[in-house]
Amino acid sequence: MRVGFGYDSHRLAEGRRLVLGGVEIPFEKGCVAHSDGDALIHALCDALLGAAGLSDIGSHFPDTDNQYKNIDSKILLAKVVELLDRKWLKINNVDATIVIERPKMAPYHDTMIQTLARVMRIAPERLAIKAKTNEKLGFVGSGDGVVCFATCTLADHDEPMNRP
Ligand code: MG
Repeated sequence: MRVGFGYDSHRLAEGRRLVLGGVEIPFEKGCVAHSDGDALIHALCDALLGAAGLSDIGSHFPDTDNQYKNIDSKILLAKVVELLDRKWLKINNVDATIVIERPKMAPYHDTMIQTLARVMRIAPERLAIKAKTNEKLGFVGSGDGVVCFATCTLADHDEPMNRP
């Protein structure tokens, strides 16, 4: 069994889309980023890549490369899952936390689970997403940013596929 951990943060600013866990969330602010700014998916990609010994998201999808400008991070996650397939690694489970002061994530939780489980080709019960505020502390608490953490476990697969 292999364990992976990932972290990502993004600044929140007006006039940007807020996309987390592959879901667009209506809000007055969104993530400032080269891609769509989906900090949850970015943390998740780093956890998966780390567990597989495949470095990190920046080395695979550099933010200096224009093909990744405003890219839907679900595409990056799907590419990461392909890399795991090639190493005959299967996602056992994923556990992630979003830290954001506003808006509330609860209305989007189930859609995030369904969306990410589909992209990762795992059963939804193998994926957990929690959300919390930062109790008004620091840059997250002031509403200036969002932080996401993700852990995962990978198992060796007996065939080069990644299915529930
Ligand atoms: Mg990021």
